[in-house]
Amino acid sequence: MSDVFDKLSSVSGLTRFEVDAIWEGVKANRKRLEECDHPHEFELVDQDKVVRNARCRKCGGVVVATNALWYIDGLAHASKCEGGSK
Ligand SMILES: [Zn+2]
Repeated sequence: MSDVFDKLSSVSGLTRFEVDAIWEGVKANRKRLEECDHPHEFELVDQDKVVRNARCRKCGGVVVATNALWYIDGLAHASKCEGGSK
C-alpha cells in the first residue's frame, strides 16, 4: 500500500529509504527543540548557503535563520512586557 512517503519518493527522485531518513531527522530535530532547556540560544550556521539555518547552542536543534531571528525578537519583546510595562 502506497503512503505519502512513497509519493514523496516518487516526485522527489529520492529513494524511500532516503525519504524515511529525512523524516527521522526532522523528528529528531523537533524532539531536541522541544526538550531544550529554554530559551534557545541560536547562532547562524551554513553561512555559505542561500537559505541559512540557525542552531541552538544548548540543544543542537536547527531552524531556518529567519525563524530564529523572529524567536530572538519575541524574547526581547516579551522581556519588555514583563512587569506590566508595555
Ligand atoms: Zn535549544
